[in-house]
Amino acid sequence: MHTNCELCQMTDEKAIWSNEKLRVIAVNDAAFPGYIRVIWKAHVAEMTDLDENERSLLSKVLFIVESTMRSTMKPDKINLAQFGNMVPHLHWHIIARYRDDSHFPESIWGIKQRDNNPETLLERAQLAEVMQAHLCQELQQAKL
Ligand SMILES: [Zn+2]
Repeated sequence: MHTNCELCQMTDEKAIWSNEKLRVIAVNDAAFPGYIRVIWKAHVAEMTDLDENERSLLSKVLFIVESTMRSTMKPDKINLAQFGNMVPHLHWHIIARYRDDSHFPESIWGIKQRDNNPETLLERAQLAEVMQAHLCQELQQAKL
């Protein structure tokens, strides 16, 4: 536990799903419905800090998130990102991307390309809720 690390302070309270090793949360970013973050609970910086079992667990969770997002939200692309430059605590971003979203084809941290269509955004926010419910079920059924 690092007292100055925001990810170490986090609890499971708002998680879609968690186990003893990691938690899956919905990121409430209005511009990017269906944005999910997978956060390793221990304060480790790099993927190679994980042992073989932990690597396997993390990859299973990432694939479940991606496949559930893909089937429910039908995005044009799924972005998987792991940086940790600002917070050196292992976490992954999984983001549903659409050709007409505000930043496509830039990353969501890149330069804005256009305004979102509010109606499209609302539809996608509804799809994101469906996705989150499915994701919770899929992760529970996987018994990780
Ligand atoms: Zn931390």
